Amino acid sequence: MTALDARGIRALVRAWAAAMDENKEMLTQLDAAIGDADHGTNMARGFQAALARVEALAADDPGQILKTVAMALIGTVGGAAGPLYGTAFLRAAGVVAGRPDLSAEDAHRMLEAALAGVQERGKATRGEKTMVDAMGPALDALGEAIAAGVAGRVALARAAEAARAGAEATRPLRATKGRASYLGERSVGHQDPGATSFALLMAEVARAAGG
Ligand code: ADP
Ligand code: MG
Repeated sequence: MTALDARGIRALVRAWAAAMDENKEMLTQLDAAIGDADHGTNMARGFQAALARVEALAADDPGQILKTVAMALIGTVGGAAGPLYGTAFLRAAGVVAGRPDLSAEDAHRMLEAALAGVQERGKATRGEKTMVDAMGPALDALGEAIAAGVAGRVALARAAEAARAGAEATRPLRATKGRASYLGERSVGHQDPGATSFALLMAEVARAAGG
């Protein structure tokens, strides 16, 4: 891959903001079924704020840009997803602090740190119908693709596909964490909003890497 530099990361933040805006209604509808119908608006608002802060940021360092995204998400997304995504981005930023270009291997380390942060904070394991169910498969696929020696853009495309499949696979699950867990059995048959938003973000990463 074309490793992503600060310019590439800035373009990615724009793509994330656009994707969250375009999918705002869909994400909110998913959350209406098993939550409180705010995930799409939460994410769109958070990434708009992130984009505004990144555009005002002078620093040209991928880690600093991602840290800025994290702080904006923590400050504006709210709900469960705000602190969780904020932690994810903060951890990911920390892993690549000071590095000018990000490779697929860096993406793997970032995703690993992000998932660990989400799990420390939210205490969800795989299969509980949360964003972890998209992040985990994406991390596995990325690790396998890197080990197989494929090009970085291909590895990231596989990670994005695994995130998409992981999000879809939350449909038959019963939620045992977060607001959806209040529904118990009635959460079955609906795709998890947070897993879906993660898959959308990951798709933009793959696109940015040229996959
Ligand atoms: P809220 O549930 O507070 O309204 P959102 O609607 O923005 O927040 O986000 C809901 C999403 O957050 C869920 O779809 C799920 O993916 C994620 N989530 C909730 N609780 C947890 C948790 N403990 N661990 C991981 N993800 C979680
Ligand atoms: Mg909600």
